[in-house]
Parts: sequence; structure tokens; C-alpha cells
Amino acid sequence: MGVYNRAPIEVERGEGARLYAKDGTAYLDCVAGIATTALGHCHPRLVQAVKDQAVKLWHVSNIFRIPGQEALADRLCAESFADVVFFTNSGTEAVECALKTARKYHSANGDPERTEIFGFDGSFHGRTYAAINAAGNPSYVEGFGPRLPGYEQLKFGDMAALEAALARPTAAAMIIEPVQGEGGARAVPDEDLRRMRALCDQHGVLLIFDEVQSGMGRTGKMWAYEWAGIAPDIMAVAKALGGGFPIGACLASAKAAKGMTVGVHGSTFGGNPLAMAVGLAALDEIAKPETLDNVREVSGYLKQQLHGLKERFPDVIVDIRGKGLLIGVKLIPNNREFMGLARDQQLLVAGGGDNCVRLLPALNLSREEAAEAIEKFERACEAARKAAA
Ligand SMILES: *Cc1c(COP(=O)(O)O)cnc(C)c1O
Repeated sequence: MGVYNRAPIEVERGEGARLYAKDGTAYLDCVAGIATTALGHCHPRLVQAVKDQAVKLWHVSNIFRIPGQEALADRLCAESFADVVFFTNSGTEAVECALKTARKYHSANGDPERTEIFGFDGSFHGRTYAAINAAGNPSYVEGFGPRLPGYEQLKFGDMAALEAALARPTAAAMIIEPVQGEGGARAVPDEDLRRMRALCDQHGVLLIFDEVQSGMGRTGKMWAYEWAGIAPDIMAVAKALGGGFPIGACLASAKAAKGMTVGVHGSTFGGNPLAMAVGLAALDEIAKPETLDNVREVSGYLKQQLHGLKERFPDVIVDIRGKGLLIGVKLIPNNREFMGLARDQQLLVAGGGDNCVRLLPALNLSREEAAEAIEKFERACEAARKAAA
């Protein structure tokens, strides 16, 4: 189906932060499959994990115990607030599970009227019906029939509106990305996250974080919520969880998962042995202190350099935002055109809302590669200036 707006590169091979096109051109990859190949392309440890598991067992279905799944769930719980995990194959399925878990919780508590889910403008939760309704982006819901009942979109940053909404007796949950990804790397201020936690506690509403993009070390901590010193009740994770292999997960506290009993939810592929073997290896590498330290160091360097470029190119760059290696650069020239100019310099950057380009490189990007990214970005700024003149 013609649903994708594809860049004109035939990608053939990847190694670390490099992508190689069929014509032999080498690109410096600051997209990383949209924050997904977090350890770079074909990381030796992940390649080995796939190879080892491929000759042992691929798939058995969740009617059997899967040791790798139990091991990865244990690791995810040890690294987070969660007590239980449900595995999926994508981010939007993890969000779907989060939303179902929240409604089921209230139903199991004898409050079936609590069904309302609050989302925020500029957010992205994936493409299932529930996810597009929770995010409420008009261009993603239009033409797909009636809006699902029980979803309401609030204005990002409007804490008064949120306070009123969460006080309703029908409120079930709110869902938010601690750092918006597709929306243009907009971070929710830490004090707002803490206020959300307090309001949810006060009104018995469940707090869902969508950390599909901001999680797994992307912001320099394992989870973006850690920066605010609070935790959600339910969290959706995916993207970097499999280092490029399709894995998602819905994490929850035992209390929030109260309604998720035998038979109420499931997945054929979710948590299969092959996926779990890769996920365990990826989590192990990402959780290493040196990986998270590198994110903070390289992020600091990139941001400082980008601020320098902003001073020199005020006609091109208006704002630098985001957290860790989820960096947004808000532009004056059209972001899609700028992505083409960067590509001409063999630099790949992602698009984003609010006319941003995003830099989402592998978490183990080296200082030298980061310096190269800045040089290429600078040349793209010069080309953008020339094009506007
Ligand atoms: C990418 C993304 C999703 C959707 O993940 P898919 O794997 O594409 O379904 C959901 N939420 C956020 C924050 C994302 O960045």
C-alpha cells in the first residue's frame, strides 16, 4: 500500500552507525530505524543471539512456558517500577494492552463506569484504533469512521484542563509520552510529570506512560520517567527493546494489572523464544552503565554543538529540544527538504512534528561519529541558507 513517504535510498547493509546503499554510498545514520536499532546495525552480540536461538527454537505459542520470556520479564521488572509484563510485537500493541489493562482495572474494582482515557495533542501512540483515538491526531483518525467513545484529547501543558478531567468520576487513565517523539521531541517538564502522578493518585486514575520511543536508555536513563523521580502504573515499551527485532511490551504494577487474568488478553507471536533471545541481549547491553553514560556525554556534546549552529544559522535553526539522544531541531526551512539536504551530505536524520528534524542515533554513537554528524549538519545548514537566498 502506498502509505509511506520513502526517502530515495535503497538500503542494503548496515554496520554500527553506518548504512550502505545499493550504489555503495555510506550514510551516517542518525535515525537508527526511528530510535530502534539502539546499539547500531548488526551489533555482534545481537547477531550472535539470533544465530544461537535460530538453531534451537523459534516459536511455540503462549500455551507453553517460555523460559526466555520469563527471564526478559524479570529483567524488565528489575529495571523498572513494574511487577508484570505482557509481550507484543510492536509499540502500538503495547499501547493497546496498556489501555485495555487500565479499563479492566476499574471494571475489576467494581467501577465499570470509569472508561475515559485522556491523551494530549502532539502525541503519538501508534496506529491501531485505540492508539489513534488516544492520541487524537486528526490526520490519523480522519476517514476511519466514528471516533471510539471514551477518548478525549487535552491540550499539552494545560494542567488546569487535566485537573478538571481527572476529577471526573468516569476518568480511567491518562496516557502521555514523557518526551514526545513524533510530535517533535517535546519533553514534559519534570514538575508537570510529578503533578500528573499526584493528581492520578488523588483521583484513583491510572497513569500510563508511553515510553516506546523515550525508554530503553534513549534519554540517558533507562526510562525517561526516572528524571522526574516518579513512576507510572502502566508503561508501553517497544522500539529499542529488540534492538531492531520486533518486540514490544506492556509493563504494569501488580495493582494496575489486577484485571488482566487468564483469557482476557493474548498474542500469538508476542514473546516468542526468538524475539526474547534478542531482547535479553539488547537489554543487557543497553542497561550497562557505560551505554547510559555515553548517551549523556554524546547528547551533551551534540546539544552544545547544535546550539552553536543555531547562533550561526538563525535563518535555519529556531530551537533545540528533547532529552538525551532524542534531539529535536526546529527549523525555518521545510523539514522534509532539509532531510534531503542532509542526505546529500550522507547524513540521515528523521522528521518530526512542528517542522523539526530529529537526531535519534544509536546509543553507542562515538564522539568522533557525533562530531562528523555535526559537520554534515552544518553543511546541510549552509545548503539550506543558499537555497533560501
Ligand atoms: C513508534 C511509537 C509507537 C508505535 O510503535 P509501532 O511499533 O510503530 O506500533 C507508539 N508510541 C510511541 C511513543 C512511538 O514512538
